[in-house]
Amino acid sequence: MELIRTEIKDKKRIVIKVGTSTLTHCTGSLNLRIMDKLAMVLSDIKKNDTEIILVTSGSITAGVSKLGLNERPKSVKERQAAASVGQCELMFTYDKLFSQYGQMVSQILLTKAITDNDLYRNNIINTFETLLTYGVIPIVNENDTVAVDELVYGDNDTLSAITAKLVNAQMLIILSDIDGFYDKNPQVNENANLVSVVEEITSEIEKSAGDSQSLVGTGGMATKISAAKIAVNSGIDMVICNGKHPESLYDILEGKQVGTIFMGKKVKSI
Ligand code: ADP
Repeated sequence: MELIRTEIKDKKRIVIKVGTSTLTHCTGSLNLRIMDKLAMVLSDIKKNDTEIILVTSGSITAGVSKLGLNERPKSVKERQAAASVGQCELMFTYDKLFSQYGQMVSQILLTKAITDNDLYRNNIINTFETLLTYGVIPIVNENDTVAVDELVYGDNDTLSAITAKLVNAQMLIILSDIDGFYDKNPQVNENANLVSVVEEITSEIEKSAGDSQSLVGTGGMATKISAAKIAVNSGIDMVICNGKHPESLYDILEGKQVGTIFMGKKVKSI
């Protein structure tokens, strides 16, 4: 494989986001095989001196499955109740799997109201820094049990970019149910081509990013491009790749071409 950029080899703090379609089976229950692989690879990368923050989705879907509900609830209170049950299941599973590899994890639940407030944002940054000093992998999710309407990020793609900005990460990696960004929505265009490198997010790119086609995915490619804009404007490289193969994280960190990379803008220091 070709090296895409030598600096990627030196990334020391990365944020990784994993989506619901990767984390859960079509029945809604957690995909333990993928979660176990992810826990193994992240623990291994962490031992090789790279700080990691994991942003996870999946709480509502896991809760719906655990509660034995027939479908994703329509009312906010029922979805929030499902998220409350599912978040517990999600963290219990992560804690158990990461523990196998001697890796401590912690939970951080964020809302837009928290990250938009200067005081709260500073507290959160201090907590992240302290956890990373302790060698912990913080696991972040939106606090779906309290977040409503205009106060929500609503999708963890945006939340992961905000998190990457908060912790000053060098790279954001989004693990999705697809190999990367295509020049057209591949679910509806047979002749769509994978784009390897995006130097600039043009309006063409924004137009070709469609919604999610899956039952559990939330934002589709549109929210991933919004996240990419936040990341690259803060000087952070962002990669979208397939979450079915967590081992590809090794290749990305070695500077190899995997999925789609959005090149972070060189941020001028004052
Ligand atoms: P996740 O749970 O991994 O975040 P989503 O379903 O939210 O997954 O987003 C990925 C989906 O976005 C793809 O499976 C695909 O259906 C859809 N999509 C829309 N436009 C594009 C595009 N241009 N390139 C790739 N995927 C696209």
